Amino acid sequence: MDRIVVLPGDGIGPEVTAQAQRVLEVVCAKHDIKISFEEALIGGASIDAKGSPLTDDVIELCRESRAILLGAVGGPKWDDMPVATRPEKGLLGIRKALGLFANLRPAQVFSALAQASSLRPEVVEGIDMLVVRELTGGIYFGEPRFIDRSGPVRTATNAMVYDENEIARITRVAFEAAGGRRQHVTHVHKANVLEVSQLWMEVVEEVAKGYPNIELAHQLVDSCAMLLVKEPRRFDVIVTGNLFGDILSDQAAMITGSLGMLPSASIAEGGLGLYEPVHGSAPDIAGQDLANPLAAILSGAMMLEHSFSAHDAAGAIRTAVDAVLDAGHRTGDIVLDGENRPTIGCVEMGDRVLEQLECA
Ligand code: NAD
Repeated sequence: MDRIVVLPGDGIGPEVTAQAQRVLEVVCAKHDIKISFEEALIGGASIDAKGSPLTDDVIELCRESRAILLGAVGGPKWDDMPVATRPEKGLLGIRKALGLFANLRPAQVFSALAQASSLRPEVVEGIDMLVVRELTGGIYFGEPRFIDRSGPVRTATNAMVYDENEIARITRVAFEAAGGRRQHVTHVHKANVLEVSQLWMEVVEEVAKGYPNIELAHQLVDSCAMLLVKEPRRFDVIVTGNLFGDILSDQAAMITGSLGMLPSASIAEGGLGLYEPVHGSAPDIAGQDLANPLAAILSGAMMLEHSFSAHDAAGAIRTAVDAVLDAGHRTGDIVLDGENRPTIGCVEMGDRVLEQLECA
């Protein structure tokens, strides 16, 4: 029996993780995957109950489990707290404590929602890419880092630092992922000006030799940003460092048009993974059964794929979500302009996905 820790968090977090948990229970039972759930606190909920956004016992529980399903953290109630003790620190803390070095963000356009994109439907129809971002290194963590206010002109310094092992391990994650997809990796860099990117080029090429069936392309980050809006369908797996990945994963995700549909995974060495929707705690709609649970449900599919290697079960969830959308079921956030249909709530969207799974 493998334990999944559920960290519902704040706002709509508990609403969407509840639906994801229902879906995981059903799909795992169908595919003979033995799981149990244990719920714990993170973010504002943990501040209220325990005085801190993340406690050591929760970190320990996560370490001893197979995977973690997280909702979202934060909300106006805690906005006036000092940055160091706010709910978001819980999220950063758990990523760091568990060594989650690889962030995977798929950007997929569901054909029923192609019109939700700000790009033309014929440009986005069929997009299915995965941005693999290095999450624990690079300029966000490099030393030295400081603002020097001592001279007549203020200066600030950050350092982009990567060693070859950090580059190799994230590159392997990307190549492994591409193996189960369209067999293509695009390495995004700025090697025309950055030595760090030149080392990435060398190491990515070395790792690629171990994956002869997978095609590798190198793309400058600036031209990649342009191609993402011009020809997004050309990308399968993108691998890049922390800074470029932060920006490009948001850009790629938003091309699909709907925040409530976007899952993510953050993986540690050894396979422990944390799975969470990309969206936040949406305090404006929390507690009203208005949230779209599909990003959380699809995060559950990523969990089955990456932490359980249960590709069929993951595929079953995706197929069910596709069918629900094709049937025209919509939460408020994904109603398309001109679509004249009643919307459904968070729980009912969960019901619809379960119905599809059960009749599959
Ligand atoms: P948000 O993602 O919570 O909401 C942005 C908008 O999208 C809102 O109008 C919201 O109602 C809508 N929305 C988001 N998810 C939705 C869903 N599943 N279904 C339907 N509509 C949805 O971003 P925000 O408003 O900038 O932030 C709110 C809080 O969430 C803040 O405290 C912020 O710090 C926190 N936050 C947390 C995370 C996280 O936990 N990973 C990420 C981003 C923001």
